[in-house]
Amino acid sequence: MAQGRRRGLDYTPLFMFLLSKVGRPWDEVFSEAVSRLDRREPIFWMVSLHRDGAEPYIAVSGSSYFSGLYVDEEGVLRKVDSALDETSLAPSCKCCTHTFNGKPFTRKFRQG
Ligand SMILES: [Zn+2]
Repeated sequence: MAQGRRRGLDYTPLFMFLLSKVGRPWDEVFSEAVSRLDRREPIFWMVSLHRDGAEPYIAVSGSSYFSGLYVDEEGVLRKVDSALDETSLAPSCKCCTHTFNGKPFTRKFRQG
């Protein structure tokens, strides 16, 4: 995997930024996020502008997961499923450290 990792491809700081803005007006969050980026696309990996079709979580790489976010009717940024956290998902392999919103999974890998 190290080979495919180019400078600028790690959007973890963006995703952590967006997470920290849950509950804030989307317009405000979006303009701040855009001002830090060279392109807008990665914002929408995590944020849906409508609840319909919004994913409860996103997998950024095989082992890095983040909450899915959406913008509610009042224009406020929300988590699709606020009950999801690092205790919710099981790792898909044994060799990698899986994280949810930057925190290591607490569940262990189980074969089959
Ligand atoms: Zn692995």
